[in-house]
Amino acid sequence: MTKRAFNFNAGPAALPLEVLQQAQEQFVDYHGAGMSIMEMSHRSAEYEQVNNETQALMRKLFGIPDNYHVLLLQGGASTQFSMLPMNLLQPGRPGAYVMTGSWADKALKEAKLIGETAVAASSEADKFARIPNLGDIEIPAEAAYLHITSNETIEGTQYAAYPNSDHVTLVADMSSDIMCRPVDISQFGIIYAGAQKNLGPSGVTIVIARDDLVQNSPKHIPTMLRYDTHVKSSSLYNTPPSFSVYMVNLVLKWIESKGGVAQMEQYNRDKTKLIYDTIDQSGGFYRGFAHAGSRSIMNITFRIHNEELEKLFVKESEQHGFVGLKGHRSVGGLRASTYNAVPLESCKALAEFMADFQKRNG
Ligand code: PMP
Repeated sequence: MTKRAFNFNAGPAALPLEVLQQAQEQFVDYHGAGMSIMEMSHRSAEYEQVNNETQALMRKLFGIPDNYHVLLLQGGASTQFSMLPMNLLQPGRPGAYVMTGSWADKALKEAKLIGETAVAASSEADKFARIPNLGDIEIPAEAAYLHITSNETIEGTQYAAYPNSDHVTLVADMSSDIMCRPVDISQFGIIYAGAQKNLGPSGVTIVIARDDLVQNSPKHIPTMLRYDTHVKSSSLYNTPPSFSVYMVNLVLKWIESKGGVAQMEQYNRDKTKLIYDTIDQSGGFYRGFAHAGSRSIMNITFRIHNEELEKLFVKESEQHGFVGLKGHRSVGGLRASTYNAVPLESCKALAEFMADFQKRNG
């Protein structure tokens, strides 16, 4: 049997073993076609089926209403940072941003290159260790949209509830928590996410967009950066990242086989509880970075009081088969990313390793 690491990488990240094995089985000969899916025309009936089914599965599992489109694009979530304002901003109508950390900051910086922006709230004074109180969010009356980062991958914070969208188009970067829990899609105008954390390998970016927002992109925008191009062509305007889409298709079927997105949430909560409990019961040896009400069920960020011990923790964890536990260079410390496909067994093993490390070094 293949030896699998306890993979806590932040992204690209762990994929379900079943999915990898299925891809392996079909790799050389996709459904008897005598070639892999990667070698086929994206205009073939086989690929069209993959494209359509992936969008349909996404709709079914994530409860996406009929008046929304599911787009499968390239360029990563980073391209959405500019594509979104290009398509939605208008003179006198700024994009409002909730500043929650590193990724919100990147999104805002790109939007500034495109047009007018505003900061609707920020938790920078708290080192981005929490999501701002929803009541403190101030949205300019003319805002074209309110942009949130539903899960800050680096700081390890996540919205427990979303801002009210009665009077504004709510837009979310869900790159690091898409389909980790059920979401009322109708609250949002647009949701976007790179696939490489919860849904598959890198190379494909999912955009879920309400119809009225993506029908008519402003005339001056280049073809590939217009949402309406991809709506009209069902994401087949040009050559799509076919292998990545195929992998997302398999991951979606895996989510379905596990009982769907609500079941994923329960599983993710069970997994992260093991690690958060270990932190909270360590008598201060481990300290969680995110404030209690803002803790993420995808990225657990924590520290040890002494940096030398943090280095030792990373080194020893690697010797024990753990991967990806070093925190992002911008915040330091330690981080365990526990995306959908990270097994409970990996989290159990990590909690045990953490307790043992404390026993030996506390
Ligand atoms: N937003 C968030 C929240 C992310 O975690 C990331 C990737 N780590 C990005 C955006 C950028 O995604 P990509 O690399 O697909 O451009």
